Amino acid sequence: MDLKTPLSYLTGIGPGLSYKLKRLNLNTVEDLIYHFPFRYDDFSNTTSALDAKIGESVTLQGEIWSIQNIYTRSRKIITKAIFNDGTSPIELTWFNSSWLIKQIQTGDRLQVSGKISKYKNKLSIIAPRWEKISNLPTTNYQLPTLHTGRLVPIYSETDGLSSKWFRTKIDKFLPLALEEIKDPLPDQIRNGMLPLNTAIQQIHFPESWEEAEKARERLGFDELFFVSLATQKARAEWRNKPILEPLKINPKDIKDFTDKLPFKLTSAQQKVLKEILEDLKGNQPMNRLVQGEVGSGKTVVAATIAYLVHKNGLRTLFMAPTEILAFQHFETLSKLLKPFGVEIGIYTGSRKYDKGKGERGKGKETSPFTLHPSPSIIIGTHALLSQELLTDNVGLVIIDEQQRFGVEQRTLLRNKARIPHFLTMTATPIPRTVALTIYGDLDMSVIDEMPVGRQKVKTFVVPEKKRADSYQFIAKKVTDGDQVYIITPLIEASETLTTVKAVKVEFEKLKKVFPHLNLGLLHGRMKGAEKDKAIQDFRSGKIHILVSTSVVEVGMDNPNATIIVIEGAERFGLAQLHQLRGRVGRGTKESYCLLYTSNSSGDEKRRLKFLETTFDGLKLAELDLKIRGSGQIFGTLQSGRFEFKIASFSNITLLEKTRQSAKNLLEHDPTLDKHPLLKAKLQDIASMVMPD
Ligand code: ADP
Ligand code: MG
Repeated sequence: MDLKTPLSYLTGIGPGLSYKLKRLNLNTVEDLIYHFPFRYDDFSNTTSALDAKIGESVTLQGEIWSIQNIYTRSRKIITKAIFNDGTSPIELTWFNSSWLIKQIQTGDRLQVSGKISKYKNKLSIIAPRWEKISNLPTTNYQLPTLHTGRLVPIYSETDGLSSKWFRTKIDKFLPLALEEIKDPLPDQIRNGMLPLNTAIQQIHFPESWEEAEKARERLGFDELFFVSLATQKARAEWRNKPILEPLKINPKDIKDFTDKLPFKLTSAQQKVLKEILEDLKGNQPMNRLVQGEVGSGKTVVAATIAYLVHKNGLRTLFMAPTEILAFQHFETLSKLLKPFGVEIGIYTGSRKYDKGKGERGKGKETSPFTLHPSPSIIIGTHALLSQELLTDNVGLVIIDEQQRFGVEQRTLLRNKARIPHFLTMTATPIPRTVALTIYGDLDMSVIDEMPVGRQKVKTFVVPEKKRADSYQFIAKKVTDGDQVYIITPLIEASETLTTVKAVKVEFEKLKKVFPHLNLGLLHGRMKGAEKDKAIQDFRSGKIHILVSTSVVEVGMDNPNATIIVIEGAERFGLAQLHQLRGRVGRGTKESYCLLYTSNSSGDEKRRLKFLETTFDGLKLAELDLKIRGSGQIFGTLQSGRFEFKIASFSNITLLEKTRQSAKNLLEHDPTLDKHPLLKAKLQDIASMVMPD
């Protein structure tokens, strides 16, 4: 059976079901067998009713003595059966399952699994799993049953597609599919781990916890290994492309520029700048990641080198993750570079316009090129890396907050023009090993110092009963001239309709709480012009309180904002909360971060309280790792198109191992021509992470 067979072609899967499967992102047979269980119910303890202990999860084999539906006074239906395994009769009880009496009849032989309980002095199992022993599935693995009497896989479900459904279908199609699976890992890399088809079989239907673990080990390795291989291959190809000539760096230009800044560069900024300059003086394209907390001054460093590139007669493309940030960078860079006669243009998905003429328009009519033959810096979103803009005179590409596994590098490599220098900037505290894995073996610089005078943002986890007080506090601060962010919970990892709905509801509620203040609304699904207006009005002080989703404002810079309220803080990792907190405390005034949580557990409160005393992003990221595993920290990193099902960035040993394996392999076979299966796999991955 071809792995790419659409699920809708399979017998028993009609249009209705295939639509539901699509919602789980399951389209082909391959997707189905890669739909791994996220846990197992352990019903491997087969025993007798007499020996079973209360509270124990067990499996019994026996006969149905009687079964009937009982209608309660509150009009509920309970199905009760008496089941005898030859040692002691036991009661089976199901709720709202009246159809069962059509499926199970007196005299049927069943295997049942569930937790033993005692009710009115009778042993019983509530809502047991069951299957008929005489009517077993045909292709099951080793164990004679699928839904009982074993480690039973539990899958993420959607309405109408239960775990039972998945077990049955996967059991049915797995043997055919596994015949088509070719293991792309060469033996020396597999190195004792399970072969791929065994791993896939065992992750669905393990006979023991050990088998399940072995399967996870292999499949988790694969996920990280392929990312590692893809990014390192791109990196190696990158390294092999010489640029035309090294940039000429005139120290006087640097001095001219930095002397005009309203502040002195921190020594961390100077150190990072020096590292970058060394790259620019070389004759190979730079590939460097600059990591620094929000507010550590990355943008200024970027502006400095963009200026030097301009001085070499070359252009810089500056890519921001959102349109909002693109416009903000546009303003910041215009302010910094205009005095030096540097022309700056902007180019985003919805608009292209040019500040020089102060004009704005739609589409191509006002493309920056017709207005300005040669802006030295073009700022924009993904649209920037289009063939149209990637001309031979692009000397530098800067990417702010890249989160998509080297996609941009690959785009640049495909381009026929010269390869520009490449700089990625991020405020996400990524441990070194993780960064090396997901970005390939790049060079890393860290701005590990904040500008002087930056104060700590006073942070409080606020109990619900103090909410009214804090609203009063906010109102008073606004009267004093301060401004406020109110961030609504992140409902999905990215902006969705649900998230937008939540922010709108909160906005309406808050308008009633603060009837005399001006409130603004901001979320990613607003039209460009509406967003611009909200941001402008907030920066100019016309809006007192900006109610926003968390996705939008990363990077917003308004030094007059002194309070940030974060609702639903339990939904964020500590490092993310720390980044959000960085929106305030940017000016000289005392600033506050107020955290609300609807999760009243003590553990959750304790977790959030770390923010009251800890102001080091990397340390908070490490705490996240410890407390919740990596999912939280790297939530945004992973929310792109590439998602790991099994692997986790917190497994540093595995990361090191996969990275080293990828490196060794590429040293012997840089083109992967000797490993066609791996090569094909990488193409698959590339298409998965490519932007639309
Ligand atoms: P990042 O991009 O790292 O979040 P920015 O470059 O936006 O940080 O800088 C944040 C703020 O700090 C800006 O208002 C910027 O002008 C200011 N800033 C940057 N470097 C310094 C410095 N060395 N001293 C004082 N202020 C600085
Ligand atoms: Mg920034």
